[in-house]
Amino acid sequence: MFSDFFGGGRGGGRGGAQRGSDLRYTLELNLEEAVRGTTVSIRVPTLVNCKPCDGSGAKKGSSPSTCPTCGGIGQVRMQQGFFSVQQTCPRCHGQGKVITDPCDSCHGEGRIEEYKTLSVKVPAGVDTGDRIRLSGEGEAGSQGGPTGDLYVVINVREHPIFQRDGKHLYCEVPISYTDAALGGELEVPTLDGRVKLKIPEGTQTGKQFRLRGKGVAPVRGGGAGDLMCRVAVETPVNLSRRQRELLEELRVSLDGDSSHSPKANGWFEGVKRFFGDL
Ligand SMILES: [Zn+2]
Ligand SMILES: [Zn+2]
Repeated sequence: MFSDFFGGGRGGGRGGAQRGSDLRYTLELNLEEAVRGTTVSIRVPTLVNCKPCDGSGAKKGSSPSTCPTCGGIGQVRMQQGFFSVQQTCPRCHGQGKVITDPCDSCHGEGRIEEYKTLSVKVPAGVDTGDRIRLSGEGEAGSQGGPTGDLYVVINVREHPIFQRDGKHLYCEVPISYTDAALGGELEVPTLDGRVKLKIPEGTQTGKQFRLRGKGVAPVRGGGAGDLMCRVAVETPVNLSRRQRELLEELRVSLDGDSSHSPKANGWFEGVKRFFGDL
């Protein structure tokens, strides 16, 4: 108990074999890659066993010698006031051996940093924060301990057209003032290409059209989500003289008839009520 509490070593106590650390790698994907799945090569820094010394840390031809401080036990007795407590040997960190003649390649560490290239298969439908575990691709363990794992953490970049929320996609589609009023056919983007969307007459800005199954098939199964297209009615600009005249004419013909403005109707009534005119 005391030795755990006072122990100043690298953990694991006596007898050196320790599991290597897990590594984390952030993989940036664009939306299309995340939705369809992909295979990517990544380069990761990792600690591998030093070849010249075979991971021992001792120069070739030499071998680690018994720790002179603890005599190879890995523990030392320390006097703490009235108590004599057992403690991890500060010199050899509990391993019982010290390297007197360190390996030139790893300076006695037994492991060296190296880059390795790995192929990562990313399944279709992943999203930001999803993790792919590559078992045994982390850091080498020390003194023959097991290798850690590598966690590839997905980060999906922003898309210029689509916003993603789980399995659903959202996009905004501009629509002309006249198409909105008269109805028409719009070409909208999906991840599989363009599709035609019929717009009914009298469509208001902000109206959302749902394209079923045009979202994302989630990586954990279940049906594909939908694509929501939100239309934004555009006010026409750069009008010619003739176009101005037509709109002036339209303005006159609409004037005074609130039945053409469903939203303004309710809005003006709300304003009147607010000022106590009703
Ligand atoms: Zn020692
Ligand atoms: Zn070495």
